Amino acid sequence: MGVFEAIGTETHESVHFGNDPESGLQAIVAIHSTVLGPSLGGTRFYPYASEDQALEDVLRLAKGMTYKAACAGLDQGGGKAVIIGDPQRLGSAALFRSYGRFIDGLGGRYITAEDVGTTVENMAVVATQTRYVSGLPQSSGGSGDPSPATARGVVAAMTAVSERLWGTDALEGRTVAIKGVGKVGMSLAERLHRRGVTLVVADVNPAASSHAEERFGATVVGIDDIHAVECDIFAPCALGADLNPETIPQLACAAIAGSANNQLLSSADADAVAARGILYAPDFVVNAGGIINIAAEKGGYDPQTAAKLVDRIYDNLTEIFQISDLLDVNTERAAERMADDRLTAKAAREAGT
Ligand code: NAD
Repeated sequence: MGVFEAIGTETHESVHFGNDPESGLQAIVAIHSTVLGPSLGGTRFYPYASEDQALEDVLRLAKGMTYKAACAGLDQGGGKAVIIGDPQRLGSAALFRSYGRFIDGLGGRYITAEDVGTTVENMAVVATQTRYVSGLPQSSGGSGDPSPATARGVVAAMTAVSERLWGTDALEGRTVAIKGVGKVGMSLAERLHRRGVTLVVADVNPAASSHAEERFGATVVGIDDIHAVECDIFAPCALGADLNPETIPQLACAAIAGSANNQLLSSADADAVAARGILYAPDFVVNAGGIINIAAEKGGYDPQTAAKLVDRIYDNLTEIFQISDLLDVNTERAAERMADDRLTAKAAREAGT
């Protein structure tokens, strides 16, 4: 598929290809929008089955970053990068140095960070070649692993959900079902346990769910049962597409708020969730804690300041619930509307209109 054909009617500003046969680097950077600021988004290192699949993924993820940053109130645009291949086999320092030079050549229109398949240590290597990289190790003045900040943001989102549904910011006594207790899910479990929440968890990795059981008294269920657990909030924290025509009729929760990207299989599923009377907290609003934390590296990273910025997810979500009421649209549409409004307002300010 051609690049312009893949972009179709979307509005990506540019797509860039990086190639270095010596290190094995094959990378694509998609810049969706720089309206709010330089585009920011992680580098996904993944053995894509085809170049078309890699292109499709980077275009979709870059657009998602524009919405995520806009809803989070960041002065950042949306961009994303993919490196094609197996990170275990190909992820040498030479490759990341070459990748750093490629990013540097984009002149700051795209700022990279870690994502699936890349680490803060890889970004430290990238940083030897370019200043357009964030999410660096704390030992070099960066913000480190973004997962704890992402989990903090999910708790802020759950608090907004609780205010909306139950008129209280106390989560004590609630039951939360977490699918996927990895870096974000486990940190979320710990935070919720401290706030007196009863936990139910499922993970493909039995060691992860046992860990949550031992440390936080979580009840462990199978991965095919977790979405149907009777609970207050279902938190998808594994992979995407957990909310689909098969699972939605089985949901037994009052609300959904989790860290996984692209939880809805299709946009129609947002209507299906709303039709069940379940409050959906849009994933790109809920899981913005990591990117907010990374963006806080600008001008010198301070953990306390960054945590306060992450907690604003509560306010962003509260506003989205209000937009949803006002416009009588589902919460996903309301969040997109909020992002579009912020983008349009900034573009109008720049045009002096
Ligand atoms: P992770 O790989 O550390 O954790 C994912 C966990 O899900 C693992 O324990 C894995 O075993 C489990 N899992 C995988 N497939 C599963 C399945 N079918 N059923 C149940 N469990 C399954 O990843 P993470 O960093 O914790 O990220 C979790 C999700 O949140 C991802 O979708 C990621 O894109 C998203 N996210 C993460 C961050 C971040 O800061 N790490 C930020 C934004 C969004």
